[in-house]
Amino acid sequence: MNTVTAPTIHCIPVLSDNYIWLIEGQDGATVIVDMGEAGPVIEAVEARDLKPVATVITHHHADHVQGLDTLLARFPMPVYGPDSCRRYGVDQVVGEADSFEIRGMGRFDVMATPGHTQDHLSYVLDKHLFCGDTLFTGGCGRLFEGTAAQMLHSLDRLALLDDATQIHCGHEYTADSLRFAAHAEPDNADITARVHQVAEKCAHDEPTASAPLALEKQTNPFLRVREPALRAAIEQYVGQTLPDDTEAFAMLRHWKDDFDGLARL
Ligand SMILES: [Zn+2]
Repeated sequence: MNTVTAPTIHCIPVLSDNYIWLIEGQDGATVIVDMGEAGPVIEAVEARDLKPVATVITHHHADHVQGLDTLLARFPMPVYGPDSCRRYGVDQVVGEADSFEIRGMGRFDVMATPGHTQDHLSYVLDKHLFCGDTLFTGGCGRLFEGTAAQMLHSLDRLALLDDATQIHCGHEYTADSLRFAAHAEPDNADITARVHQVAEKCAHDEPTASAPLALEKQTNPFLRVREPALRAAIEQYVGQTLPDDTEAFAMLRHWKDDFDGLARL
């Protein structure tokens, strides 16, 4: 008998622009994704009478782990995550191709997705992807530890998931990300339409950090580096022909940092 029901996903804003995801399964059993700040999560859990059964961690940055101590003091539970996060409370170390079962919810598949950091993990539960700071709605994470080749490979692998997969990422960056997307691909009507949809949601203070993978493939430049029009735009930005997709991706990331005023020159 199949006892797994489709989970309900709750989005909890914490810190300045982070999101923590609560995955609610049967009978209130809940898996928590990332833990930058415990207070709002404990409040949400108590208000909805949820029962936290596990936390999963995507990577070691403080805004994804620093609330673990407080959370675990209130709700002791197993914490899945990369080896680098043991000192923050991870006691179930997982990595590429691992999976674990949460009763009444289903199987979480773990993918190593380095690029933003070397230890970054993404988690797939049925048609949901929790990708932390690797893939953002409309963008991708900055390359703090990894290389452009690693990030491109990670994004290529995420792009192979089912188009109907709903991605859930770690920050409310969509409007900013799409501003750059529209700058890089001014003739992409899907991007223009999405810019308006996201602006509407932001005007109502609604989170925009979930989206179907199919929409990302149409509008997220970091999944579109092989599109001829975008490739031409990147080469125009750099002022030279680029030898391969990895170099084009590296320059696209640089272009975005430059656009944001973050480029290290
Ligand atoms: Zn991060």
